[in-house]
Amino acid sequence: MRMSRYFLPVLKETPREAQIVSHRLMLQAGLIKQASAGIYSWLPMGYKVLERLSRIVHEEQARAGHLAMLMPTIQSADLWRESGRYDAYGDEMLRIKDRGGREMLFTPTAEELVTDIFRSHVSSYKDLPLTLYQIQWKFRDETRPRFGVMRGREFLMKDGYNFDLTAEDALHSYNRHLVTYLRTYERMGLQAIPMRADSGPIGGEDTHEFLVLAETGESEVFYDSEITDLTFGDRDIDFDDKAACAAVLAEFTSRYARTDETHDEAVFAEVPEARRRTARGIEVGQIFYFGTKYSDAMGATVQGPDGKPTAVHMGSHGIGVSRLLGAIIEAHHDGKGIIWPEGVTPFHAGIVNLRQGDAETDAACEDLYAQLRKAGLDPLYDDRDERAGAKFGTMDLIGLPWRITVGPRGLKSGVVELTSRRTGESVEVSPADAVARLVAVYDGI
Ligand code: ATP
Ligand code: MG
Repeated sequence: MRMSRYFLPVLKETPREAQIVSHRLMLQAGLIKQASAGIYSWLPMGYKVLERLSRIVHEEQARAGHLAMLMPTIQSADLWRESGRYDAYGDEMLRIKDRGGREMLFTPTAEELVTDIFRSHVSSYKDLPLTLYQIQWKFRDETRPRFGVMRGREFLMKDGYNFDLTAEDALHSYNRHLVTYLRTYERMGLQAIPMRADSGPIGGEDTHEFLVLAETGESEVFYDSEITDLTFGDRDIDFDDKAACAAVLAEFTSRYARTDETHDEAVFAEVPEARRRTARGIEVGQIFYFGTKYSDAMGATVQGPDGKPTAVHMGSHGIGVSRLLGAIIEAHHDGKGIIWPEGVTPFHAGIVNLRQGDAETDAACEDLYAQLRKAGLDPLYDDRDERAGAKFGTMDLIGLPWRITVGPRGLKSGVVELTSRRTGESVEVSPADAVARLVAVYDGI
């Protein structure tokens, strides 16, 4: 992409409504624009990151054998009456009427809808296990929408639902989700710690929330510092292997890590004092096992191996895709702006032309731009007729992990400058070498 043709409405002034750094940077870097309280338009670069996050979620779900689908944003109230949640959900649910006076609602979550699909089409245990998920906009009329996309009213969520014959199989689904989530967040450059949590209006027995530690997080968390040494890394897990998935769950949940809702001082006191931490965290996901709660209420049964109807065991699992942008920026920024992790960056590298209009420099930039694209990378070329300082300022603000600076002086000795946004370190290399290095950096990401 050429900057001259891009739509990147960078703000010169600091937006006053932003209370936390990620909200401020998202507005300043032209990623989002507020449409009304807690509701945002996603401008091209913000949307690009949102799409990258969605792609990572899809890839990791596919790896675990979960099936992507799409359910509507508008639901009928009838299904929610069946489960008993229409009245229970309260003011967070946005309720609307169609022209025929029928009660409808904007989906805050989709347990009822997916259970209805299941009961209509699945009748035998032989069709289990089944996990369906979607990445779809949700609406919750939050009392206090704030911090930009972090607590919106409209937000993008991945929501997944598993259907299993037995509690044991459903537990495996739970563990499998924990494993996929660990990998998903790490690919996004985040450490998200699974913490024992409270189930809230979804109801249920087992639940863990995934929290990214950050001063601006809304949840208070308590944990054993050893947990932050754990990484999932590049493990190749067989998702059908119950023992392997259970071992990962045990590894990542055996140390004390809880939100304030489930925190227990007496149990926490057993953690050696030097390892006890109290901090704040951003909830970026949650997994639930709730047994037969919805299948009982809505009659979702299958014929079991003994020929008798059995209520299926279910769980649901959510990732706050749009909130993740805020969480990633909270975790990766400095005084100058965003620092995107390579896995989620909107463009792989920025090209800064120091002397726009100089034939030789322009040609070198054009060539570099073409070579990067040929190598399968997605560069952003700042070809505007602007001062170098302004170009550097924009690049630092929007936070592309790598910058290639091209100027007449370097070109005389055949080099350009390759700079890491994170460390600020630069190397002078030939344009071909810069391309090769970037290809190596992004290999496998
Ligand atoms: P919270 O406690 O933050 O209100 P929740 O527990 O009600 O969230 P879930 O039903 O678990 O939310 O939804 C799954 C994920 O969706 C959450 O882990 C969070 O990352 C995201 N999410 C929930 N509410 C919002 C919101 N208002 N704005 C942005 N993301 C949200
Ligand atoms: Mg939650």
